[in-house]
Amino acid sequence: MYTSLLNDARFHRMLQELDEKTAAEVKTQGCTKSGCDGKLHSARYPRKPRGLPVGLSGCECWRQSFCCAKEGCRVRTTPASLIFLGPKVYLAVIVTVITAMRCGMTPARMQRLKELVGVSRQTVLRWQQWWQELLPQLPLWREACGGFRSPVDTGALPLSWLERLSGGAEERLLALLRFLGPLSGGKRGAKTP
Ligand SMILES: [Zn+2]
Repeated sequence: MYTSLLNDARFHRMLQELDEKTAAEVKTQGCTKSGCDGKLHSARYPRKPRGLPVGLSGCECWRQSFCCAKEGCRVRTTPASLIFLGPKVYLAVIVTVITAMRCGMTPARMQRLKELVGVSRQTVLRWQQWWQELLPQLPLWREACGGFRSPVDTGALPLSWLERLSGGAEERLLALLRFLGPLSGGKRGAKTP
C-alpha cells in the first residue's frame, strides 16, 4: 500500500505544493535572527533528487530557501520540507517507505524494491541504521513519543511508527513526513541519513 505511493505523481505533486505553502508562510514571517526585521529574499537552489516517479523524473526540483535582505545579516532560513530529508539524494518518502518495507523482508521482495527504485542494499542498511539507531536519540523522537500511549519498537522503525498513526496509507505517510520536516530545515538542523 505504501509502495504504490512511490510511483504516484499526484502524491509527489501534493508534497511539492505543501512545501511551497510552508515556504510562503516562512517568507511572511521575515528574518529568523532575533532582533532583525529584515525581509526574506528567495535563495532557492536546484536539487536533483533520486526516486521521482517516471512522469516527474525530468522536472526541475527546487529546494526552497531564503536569505535575509538586510546588509550585515544575510542569515539563511530554510523551511521544513516533506520532499527532502537533509542532504540525502533520495526523496524522504523513499527513505521512509523502503526502510519500512524492509522490516521482515524476504530477499525476493528486497530484489523487487531494488528494481523499483534502483537503491542498493548498503544504502537501505544505512537508512535502517538512521531510523533505528540515530533518530531515537534526537529530541524530535522524544517529542513524537509523547504522543504515543505505549513505547514504539525502535528496532522496527519506521514501520512501527506508521502503524501507530491513523488513516489510510497516504495520511499516515504524510503525518510522518510532517514530523520529519524540521530535520531538513528550520533552525533545528540535525543529522540525517
Ligand atoms: Zn536578518
